[in-house]
Amino acid sequence: MNNTPHAPVTVIGLGLMGQALAGAFLKAGHPTTVWNRTPAKAAPLVAAGARSAPTLGDALAASPLTIVCLTDYDAMYELLGANGVEPDPTTPIDTTPIDTTLINLTSGSAGQAREAAEWAERRGARYLDGAIMAIPPGIGTAEAVILHSGPEQVFADHASTLGALGTITHLGADPGLASLYDVAGLAMMWSVLNAWLQGTALLAKAGVDAATYAPFARQIAAGVADWLPGYAEQIDKGSFPAEVAALETDARAMEHLIEESEAMGVNAELPRLIKAMADRAIAAGHGGEQYPVLIEEFGKP
Ligand code: NAP
Repeated sequence: MNNTPHAPVTVIGLGLMGQALAGAFLKAGHPTTVWNRTPAKAAPLVAAGARSAPTLGDALAASPLTIVCLTDYDAMYELLGANGVEPDPTTPIDTTPIDTTLINLTSGSAGQAREAAEWAERRGARYLDGAIMAIPPGIGTAEAVILHSGPEQVFADHASTLGALGTITHLGADPGLASLYDVAGLAMMWSVLNAWLQGTALLAKAGVDAATYAPFARQIAAGVADWLPGYAEQIDKGSFPAEVAALETDARAMEHLIEESEAMGVNAELPRLIKAMADRAIAAGHGGEQYPVLIEEFGKP
C-alpha cells in the first residue's frame, strides 16, 4: 500500500546523515516531513520542499514510514520514550502507541537492534533496523549500500521508498543482522587496508612509492577475493582439505614477512598476530589443512 512511487516519508534526526537522507527522498519526489531537536537544521530541507513538523508527535503521525537517524540508540529512547528493557522505577515505561513503520538507520550493535525491535513492538510500531555503509554525499546514488533486517513484509511494503536512498538490501528476519553485516564489512575494509599499508611501508624502504605498488596490491586483493566462495564452502562443510596449500606452508611465508618487516625496520605487529593465530591452529593439529581452517581461531572468544 505504501510502496507507491511517491509515498510520504518522515525523517527524524537531521544531522549530516539525516539531512542527506531527507534530501534524497525529496529529490525522488516523496512528500517529506522532517523533525530535528535543533529545528534550525531543517531550514535547507524546507527550502527544498520538505515540511518541518512542529512537534515530534506530528512528525510521527505524518507518514506511514519514519526514518530515524540519530547519534545512537540512547538518543532514540530519549526522544521516543523509555525502552522498558531495564525497568527503572523513576522512569515510567512509555506505552504511547507509535503508529508508523520505523526504520532505524542509527548505528549500533546487533544486541541494541534486537532490543529496539522488541521496544518498537511493545509500542505498536512496525520496525526494521538498518545500517548505512556510505557517507552523506553518496546517499541517493547506487554506491550507497543500505542494509536492512527485520520482518521481510515490512521491507517489501516500503522497498520502493527506501530505494530512493541507494542500493538497499534485506538480510533476514533477525533485526541484528544489518549491524552484524556492517561490522563484518568494516573488518574486511580495515584488514584489506592494513595489509596494503604493511606492504606499502615495506616497499617504501626500498624506494618504491605507494602509487607504484597500488595497482599490484589491487590485483592481489582482487585475486584473493576470488577465493572466498570456495573457501566459504570449506567453512560451511567444516572440511579443509589442502587443495592449493597447507596452513604450515602459509606459516613459513608468514615467518618471512615477519623477518622482512623486522629487517627493513617496519612495524611487524600485524604479521606477528597473523602468525600467532596460525601457530595455535598448527599446534591444535591443523597444519596439514587449508587456510580457512583458521575460522576455528576466529570463532573463539
Ligand atoms: P550527527 O551529524 O552528529 O547528527 C546526530 C543527530 O542526532 C542530530 O540530528 C542530533 O540532533 C541528533 N541527536 C543526538 N542526540 C539526541 C538526543 N538526545 N535527542 C534528540 N536528537 C539527538 O551524526 P550523523 O553523521 O548524522 O550520524 C547519524 C547516524 O548515522 C549515526 O548513528 C552514525 O553512526 C550513522 N552514520 C553516519 C555516517 C556519516 O558518514 N555521517 C555514515 C554511516 C552511518 P541535534 O541536531 O539537535 O544535535
